[in-house]
Amino acid sequence: MLNVKACAIFLVSVFATSLTAVAQNSKALKTIIVDAGHGGKDFGAHGGYEGGLNSYEKNVTLGISLKLVEELKKQLPDVKIVPTRTTDIYQSPPEKADIANENKGDLFICIHADAVALQTGRRQVGSRQETRYKVTYTGKGKKKRVKKSTPYTVTVPVYEYYKIGSKRTGTSVWLFAAHKTVDKTNALMKNESAEDIEIGSGSDSTLNEIDFSAPEYKMMATARVGRYQQKSIKLAEFINAQIEETDRPALGIYQRAKGIWVLQATNMPALLVETGFITNHDDERYLNSDKGQQEIAECITRAVKKYKEQLESNKNNAPAPDVKAEEKVLKEAGVPGAGKKSSSRPAPKK
Ligand SMILES: [Zn+2]
Repeated sequence: MLNVKACAIFLVSVFATSLTAVAQNSKALKTIIVDAGHGGKDFGAHGGYEGGLNSYEKNVTLGISLKLVEELKKQLPDVKIVPTRTTDIYQSPPEKADIANENKGDLFICIHADAVALQTGRRQVGSRQETRYKVTYTGKGKKKRVKKSTPYTVTVPVYEYYKIGSKRTGTSVWLFAAHKTVDKTNALMKNESAEDIEIGSGSDSTLNEIDFSAPEYKMMATARVGRYQQKSIKLAEFINAQIEETDRPALGIYQRAKGIWVLQATNMPALLVETGFITNHDDERYLNSDKGQQEIAECITRAVKKYKEQLESNKNNAPAPDVKAEEKVLKEAGVPGAGKKSSSRPAPKK
């Protein structure tokens, strides 16, 4: 069982060491977390329309994610790829976020399938005879009485109701909402103020100097979240461009007004790919096919590869100005190790 104190210390040390790593690590993308959306008792969206496959989102996302993990491993052998799940198990969003944060991901990719509320259609499947009565009355008000009731027969149609598959198809990419940067900042700071974290004796004493409530620290965290947002947008653009190369519609990049919890809760650039509409006839078949799953996995992998190349070329040319500014804030905030060349993060595998 994980001790809470030990866990807090661990998080503080991960945070502190990763801060110094920001400006100096040699490899910008060391770990990618791939999240197959939903799972287990959480079925996700359903292709429950007439002519549909009755497939569930949780299975489609798992199929695509497994292929994406394989493809990323193949194309980026020096990057550690961590799936949140490889089988049909349930994970709450906090569990998924924890896997991402505990593995110190540099990128979080969530795989989902879209759905729209299905309209109900009806069609006549036959007819039947119905007896009705023509009634005449006598009197008025309380004295009104039936005078005569004459039966007659009518033919009425019999309808069948069914769900209509949606017309909308295509792949879209979703980012955490800009106004949700507070949540993202909290994830970065693990939502814990200095008072909440007890540093045990014998731990690295310099860690005691971190004051999570310091305004400089918050500023830094906010700046960093802004950078996550920029990176997420960059990758989202690459993914959208790759989808444009396929026969299916690339629907663009979006932010959900309500936010996307798991994207806000991860301490890294994060995005969510709505791979296609499980409520659409063609998309559902595509999403359930080996060919379709593989094509999406390859599109995302090519985009990640471009993203990684760009991150690395940025690093090799000149440090981005916002990183410099961030480091300055870190130094001023007295964060241990800020501005030093060393990092206690594990050395990247070659
Ligand atoms: Zn979903």
